[in-house]
Amino acid sequence: MEPFVLYSKNHPYLHVASWESQYSHLVVGMSTRTEQNRNYALHVGNDPKHVIESRKSLTHTLSFPFESWTCGEQVHDNHIKIIESSNRGRGRESRDSAFADTDGLITHESDILLASFYADCVPLLFYSPDSDIIGVAHAGWKGTVKNIGVSMIEKFQELGADKKQIMVAIGPSIGSCCYKVDDRVVEPLHQVLPDVFQSSMITATTNGHYYLDLKEANKQLLLLAGLKSSQILVSQRCTQCEDTLFFSHRREGSSAGRMVAFIGKRRSNE
Ligand SMILES: [Zn+2]
Repeated sequence: MEPFVLYSKNHPYLHVASWESQYSHLVVGMSTRTEQNRNYALHVGNDPKHVIESRKSLTHTLSFPFESWTCGEQVHDNHIKIIESSNRGRGRESRDSAFADTDGLITHESDILLASFYADCVPLLFYSPDSDIIGVAHAGWKGTVKNIGVSMIEKFQELGADKKQIMVAIGPSIGSCCYKVDDRVVEPLHQVLPDVFQSSMITATTNGHYYLDLKEANKQLLLLAGLKSSQILVSQRCTQCEDTLFFSHRREGSSAGRMVAFIGKRRSNE
């Protein structure tokens, strides 16, 4: 069953329904373009006022204060920032205040909405119920081969999480139906996933080109690191195919809008 379920209240978005029903203080999911083509990233050349208005609208829908919106400047690397309450709200209104060179965000604090931006790359959402730690990481092919997912697991463990209990939701991204790549991508992936050519992750086409399942690659890296399949949810949604739900960099070019993947913990008194 698809883990990212469309939730249409007054601001349609996808939520990880099984996590939210099991842990009622969690808010976790991904925006869609269903609502007014809203774009959530400041780095696409769009009107910043419109982006900030979209962020305010989404936080309102999620019953979070806008001041809780916290994000980084994503650079397709594997650097991770631990967010404390003193850093709450960084990046919400300007790129200058966002955490520089940061593709992964983790916090144990409530009332902080971790936000990360996408238009085909893979969102990785993390929750550890034993330690009540949350996280999100941006994994394009570069972040995937740099193994940002496993780096997130290691950070969770440093903060006291039991690896056996960490849950990961791999969100909508470009699917193997559409994600055509070449050796430039496949060779470094082969370095970290030695079985990649024997797997169903890759389908060779012609002249050194392949269709790649980047979501599955992230899952396999997490399995190699010792997670069990039962700890990992994988969306089947493709951002390039589902053009009414998603922006897609491959389909629309660099000016494509960006969805936001988010996770936060509501305060217990709300
Ligand atoms: Zn597709």
